Amino acid sequence: MKRALNFNAGPAALPEDVLKRAQSEWLNIDNTGMSVMELSHRSDTFETIHNHAIQTLKELMDIPENYDVLFLQGGASLQFSMIPMNLLKADSLADYVLTGSWSEKALQEAKKIGTTRVVASTKDVNYTSIPKLSDIVYNQDAAYLHITSNNTIYGTQWNVFPDTKNVPLVADMSSDILSKKIDVSKFGLIYAGAQKNLGPSGITVVIIRKDLISDSLDEIPTMLNYHTHQASNSLYNTPPTLAIYLLSLVLDWAKDLGGITKIEENNAKKAELLYHAIDSSDGFYQGHAKPDSRSYMNVTFTLPNKEIEQEFLQKAKDAGFIGLNGHRSVGGCRASIYNAVPLEHCQELADFMKNFKKTYQN
Ligand code: PLP
Repeated sequence: MKRALNFNAGPAALPEDVLKRAQSEWLNIDNTGMSVMELSHRSDTFETIHNHAIQTLKELMDIPENYDVLFLQGGASLQFSMIPMNLLKADSLADYVLTGSWSEKALQEAKKIGTTRVVASTKDVNYTSIPKLSDIVYNQDAAYLHITSNNTIYGTQWNVFPDTKNVPLVADMSSDILSKKIDVSKFGLIYAGAQKNLGPSGITVVIIRKDLISDSLDEIPTMLNYHTHQASNSLYNTPPTLAIYLLSLVLDWAKDLGGITKIEENNAKKAELLYHAIDSSDGFYQGHAKPDSRSYMNVTFTLPNKEIEQEFLQKAKDAGFIGLNGHRSVGGCRASIYNAVPLEHCQELADFMKNFKKTYQN
């Protein structure tokens, strides 16, 4: 069976090899005579899978010793609240950079917990770009500076990160974690829902510098306190065992492929194919993002008018392309090309775009 040309924004395509391996172990994991879903989360077999996933992520992202990796639930959206609950003290401020709907949502939740300040925003240019680093003036005594490293809806991505020194940099990396090399030591906290680059939905990864976890925040509900999860190796309550298993397979796949260096190389090739189709179209396709802020994960574009756009989307659907409609809040078209989307699928889409333009204009 041919795999679908899946450009969904999340949940998104998973590596075929991961699905095949899961299938081969589906009824009998590690010779237990059980499916991974039937194991106790306190069993040796599951704990081995769980610890292997943590270890492999640390290796792939070169996570320093003074950081913990937590596996949580509630999606990236719950982190919008957990971050201020754990990091924003009553007498301090949290600074936010707005680069799209997800950073707006993160800010809205933080406002419910404490005092916030917007230190830069590209809302006035319809989130077509990432602010210049020199335009971000954050408080030197801020509890943290929050950014969204890749804006899934608008298709923009940070290329360089602010060097915040004493202020912990907090990044929502839901849609570009593990897609390129980053220096984790520049961040206080990184979080990501897994359902784009890491695996299936149902698990959220938090990478947090150990000194940011306080063991004296007794007023926070137990499940929302990072310390609870740190102290129990993310096994305080029943974790999403199937999602963690699949995450561990995705991480193995990434490692076997050649790690982040290889993944980054592949992602650049994929994105360049699609941006080239846009840039060489004499304006038929218009990229939403300014070229210096383009995302290598979500390629967003429009066509000359809504009618042509609808025809493009319909013909693309008929040709087997999945998930090319832009987010319902902004319209247009979007191709999400996360790690597991094969280069050949991007080539097919680039060819389709070129052919559609040709047939349309003839
Ligand atoms: N942050 C970003 C950048 C996202 O793209 C998304 C979802 O697409 C979220 C947060 C919300 O994630 P979740 O659905 O895991 O809560």
